[in-house]
Amino acid sequence: MQLTKNKVANINYTLKDKDGNTMDESKDGKFVYLHGSQKRNLLPALEEALEGKEAGDSANVVIEAGNAYGQRDEDKIQRVPKKIFPQDQELQVGMPFSSATADGTAVNVVITAIEEEEVVVDGNHPLAGVDLHFDIEIMEIRDATEEEIEHGHVHGVGGHQH
Ligand code: ZN
Repeated sequence: MQLTKNKVANINYTLKDKDGNTMDESKDGKFVYLHGSQKRNLLPALEEALEGKEAGDSANVVIEAGNAYGQRDEDKIQRVPKKIFPQDQELQVGMPFSSATADGTAVNVVITAIEEEEVVVDGNHPLAGVDLHFDIEIMEIRDATEEEIEHGHVHGVGGHQH
């Protein structure tokens, strides 16, 4: 069976940066996704590379930052007054915060510096500017159920439990 639209694939993967540092991995056969869904369960460039693979196949896929999480945007690094943070929270570099813009879009930022009156936050995705190197092994492929196709995600083990 080939991995095509509306198949569910169980894959093992290792994600490394260009220097070979492992940034993420799933080795236990627990990562499943619905291929070809409009919900785009994986990066489109990654699904494209896996299209037509069969169980037992492996793939090395390199996705440049521009086709993954984009380039780093210096405008997303901002200085904000310290007083907008919760008073009872001790701020630390590396701490993540969520906030919302005026139009309600969720923004996730990480504190990168703390000064006397101001805090520097970075709203770039942690993988922005990073070329992604995936080592992937296709473990299993099956047909998606009609319900899974309708919902745009996998149900059961490793998927949504509802
Ligand atoms: Zn569902």
